[in-house]
Amino acid sequence: MDAKPLIFDLDLPDLAQLFLSWGEPAYRAAQVWQGLYSHLWEDPVEFTSLPNSLRQKLDAYLTFTRLKPVQVLESGDGATRKTLFSLPDGQAVEAVRMGYARRRTLCISTQAGCAMGCVFCATGQMGFRRHLSSGEIVEQVLYYARQSKSAGERITNIVLMGMGEPFHNYEATMAAIDRLNHPKGFNFGARRFTVSTVGLVPQIRRFASERRQVNLAVSLHAADDELRSSMLPVNRKYPLDELFDACRQYAEITHRRITFEWALIREVNDTPTQAQLLASRLHGMLCHVNVIPLNPTRNYAGQATTKERALTFKSELEKYNIPCTIRLRRGIDIQAGCGQLATDEKKARKLPA
Ligand code: SAH
Ligand code: SF4
Repeated sequence: MDAKPLIFDLDLPDLAQLFLSWGEPAYRAAQVWQGLYSHLWEDPVEFTSLPNSLRQKLDAYLTFTRLKPVQVLESGDGATRKTLFSLPDGQAVEAVRMGYARRRTLCISTQAGCAMGCVFCATGQMGFRRHLSSGEIVEQVLYYARQSKSAGERITNIVLMGMGEPFHNYEATMAAIDRLNHPKGFNFGARRFTVSTVGLVPQIRRFASERRQVNLAVSLHAADDELRSSMLPVNRKYPLDELFDACRQYAEITHRRITFEWALIREVNDTPTQAQLLASRLHGMLCHVNVIPLNPTRNYAGQATTKERALTFKSELEKYNIPCTIRLRRGIDIQAGCGQLATDEKKARKLPA
């Protein structure tokens, strides 16, 4: 690990405290905060409004980069770009930028690997390596924000759907969101974040009680316990009745619409029976269902659904007035479906990192 603390792990008061301990006035912290999160500076030499001595101290005691981009892949149509970052301890994480219509969405990671072991997920298949710190989560966003800025674009949405389970790393995930949401800095609106969880019930309840404006997505994938437990081992700990209790409590407390994620796997969970079971579970609830054809992974035999079966699934849900969107597998040629680490470089364009 880098011996120096990562500057993005610090909140504004932490920075002010540090500067005080260096004998610097607290207002310098606000200047640095603005440099980092408004101007998107990434090197102490850029902070020309600071005295030279302070720039030197920043350089000596803090690090401004922990994530090293080692591979950049762009989809054939140029709309999706995935960056693989290496960390000083040898771990690797990825982040993806997707640009479609007027949206520029970033999909970022919260852990290296994942402990949840969902059978169809490339990240689950690699197991848990470690939690990311809040600063390491923030740094993924700033990396893309700098690129967007030089291209004259703005990021419109941030989804925490990359590697890892955000609610297994709750504190760091929320700290990262709060830091990026800070009005005097990056000022990214809470409503433009989406946190996706595999269904950790205590954390869903906690998230509800905190009444955050951040959107919640729950990865469901099956509407009966037997099938869900065979795909998502976490379902044995938090079965569907408990999960839906927590989701209903969330909807009641926050009045916010939950998105349920469903990867359609041919003849596994894309049947009309599953759609009907799902509809009965969601009856009367403020929600939306996003279905996406499975991205096949090396260690899972399941196949993607067909277009016809996806349409049947959607219309089955709509019979019960459950809104459903079929998502396209954007950036499939770079395995940019979040949580997909394996890269198929055949169609992707490799760019200098
Ligand atoms: N751990 C969180 C967020 C990261 S995974 C979660 O599970 O929700 C983000 C989304 O990608 C989840 O909905 C997950 O189920 C889905 N996903 C993982 N592997 C996939 C695959 N091979 N094909 C389609 N979706 C997949
Ligand atoms: Fe982890 Fe989400 Fe993948 Fe499941 S789907 S293994 S929770 S990253």
